[in-house]
This record gives sequence, structure tokens and C-alpha cells, in this order.
Amino acid sequence: MKEFPLMEQISKEFLKKVGEEILNHPELTKTIKSRGRSLFKKGAVIDADLSKDVLTAVVVGTKPYLVKVVLKDDRIEELFCSCPYDGYVCKHIVAL
Ligand SMILES: [Zn+2]
Repeated sequence: MKEFPLMEQISKEFLKKVGEEILNHPELTKTIKSRGRSLFKKGAVIDADLSKDVLTAVVVGTKPYLVKVVLKDDRIEELFCSCPYDGYVCKHIVAL
């Protein structure tokens, strides 16, 4: 597994918590989950930044996509990805 310098600025504890919440999302399907995991292993997350309550990252799939996670009181309030997938949680968000 590859580490990204920018990722180190974000607390691992925090990311783990957000990640768990995403992985337990009711709208997340098994297929998307495993696709997201393989994207993560490939090092598809090339940029991640946390400012205030918004976590943004660029995830490279077939194209680079912008992923945005809006947080409120340490919980996910809104998930956003610029890819055309029409479900709520896509593989790029899982890759985070
Ligand atoms: Zn996506």
C-alpha cells in the first residue's frame, strides 16, 4: 500500500472513522465496495485535503474524478463525486 504525503496531514484516526461510515453506508453495494478497494490498492487516490468540514480528493479511475465529503459533527453529511455513476456511493468514494 502506498502512502501519500498529503494524506499524512489528515489524521489517520479521522480518516478511519469516515471510511468506516462510508463502508457501512446502506446504499453501498458489494460490487462498488470491491471496486473501490482495488482502486485504493492501485493508488488511485492522488490528492486528498481536509479543510474545515470538507474532505476533497482526486481519484483516478477511467478519468480523474473529484470526490468531496462534507462532514458535520464528525459525521458524513454529504457525499459527492464527479463521475457519472448514478448511485449515491460510487467506487471513487470508497477508494478514499
Ligand atoms: Zn465516482
